[in-house]
Amino acid sequence: MYPSLILKSGRDRSIINRHPWIFSGAVKTLPKAENGDIVAIRDNHNTLLGYGFFSEKSQITCRMFEFTSQEMHFNTADYWVDKIRRAYQIRKQHVISERTSCYRLIHAEGDELPGIIADIYGEVAVLQLLIKGTEKIAPFLLEGLSVTGVKHIWLKNKHNAAFFEDVSLQNGWLSGAKEESEPVVVHENGLKFLIDFEKGQKTGFFVDQRDNRSLLKEYSQGKKVLNAFSYTGGFSVYALAGGASMVHSVDISKDAVQVCDQNVALNFEGANHASFAADCFDYLKSTTEEYDIMVLDPPAFAKNARAVPNASRGYKELNMAGIRKIKPGGLIFTFSCSQNIDRDLFRKIVFSAAADAGRSCRIIHQLTQPIDHPINIYHPEGEYLKGLVLYIE
Ligand code: SAH
Repeated sequence: MYPSLILKSGRDRSIINRHPWIFSGAVKTLPKAENGDIVAIRDNHNTLLGYGFFSEKSQITCRMFEFTSQEMHFNTADYWVDKIRRAYQIRKQHVISERTSCYRLIHAEGDELPGIIADIYGEVAVLQLLIKGTEKIAPFLLEGLSVTGVKHIWLKNKHNAAFFEDVSLQNGWLSGAKEESEPVVVHENGLKFLIDFEKGQKTGFFVDQRDNRSLLKEYSQGKKVLNAFSYTGGFSVYALAGGASMVHSVDISKDAVQVCDQNVALNFEGANHASFAADCFDYLKSTTEEYDIMVLDPPAFAKNARAVPNASRGYKELNMAGIRKIKPGGLIFTFSCSQNIDRDLFRKIVFSAAADAGRSCRIIHQLTQPIDHPINIYHPEGEYLKGLVLYIE
């Protein structure tokens, strides 16, 4: 028997709708449990609704991973291995191939495994455990990850949420330690990328832009391309693969720019590519280069709901600068990965940027996150990546 968390309502709407988050305001009686323990969720008639991880200090008191009226047990690996196997099936069918060896295996709520992210880079899995409860089941998760055939598992836990949730495991090898945690080379759609999972941002690579990078490739033949916020050069390498006549990559991080150059060199000899360690806002204002295509993929400007007004101004300024500078007949691939800025708001921001720039602007594609970053339909918060391709006259 797991300790019970009792809800105020007999028919809590969000749980009937399988929303995995229980906010503190919905709780009548807290469970007699420690932070991170698995608890049983019951309504005020004591009817079992499911199970979740208890988060003592968070606004989200519990994150549910199972909706059921049956008593269940989670103290062996079976349940977790099965869930990971099911997530793997989707990737195996639709993402993994001889040409693609990097993908997201576990996308938290999107795969009904809240607080857990796992990205696979060839034989290395990079795992993030973002709430205390996931740390307590770590050994079961390691067993689950092995269904993919990975040999090494690296824990990457430096994250604000981790701090907030008292996750205490340290970054490092959880299993299959390699002598050195040096970068690995992976394939994405046949292109090669160096992944520095130890020092790089997030898990080392932005796997979520794979499909959008492929789309850029289709448009790149003979074009001059600016990849703004280039990180390790994902979009730059695809633009060159698509026959771009020139590619410029700009990122504020010197380390990222260095890896970007390495990635270009890994794929192409003597490519017409230059990279700059600079602030993209300044670069866009001062450049006299005439680009046919721009990619604007900044970091999440709105890390929380309070930051939305400032972030909106940032996105507007950036898009306005791009729309003003792009050549007539040019394309802008513009993105926001802020969870707090939804698709409608993002489009309104870009609208306002286009209106102020005073140029004719058509939306020719609306972009999102790929198959291996699925959105649980009951958890719309999981939709975070939005993109528009604009045709500017
Ligand atoms: N498009 C990339 C991911 C971008 S992540 C890809 O497909 O892999 C966001 C990047 O923006 C980070 O590399 C970060 O270093 C960079 N960045 C943040 N603020 C910046 C600024 N003001 N100017 C330039 N780069 C910035």
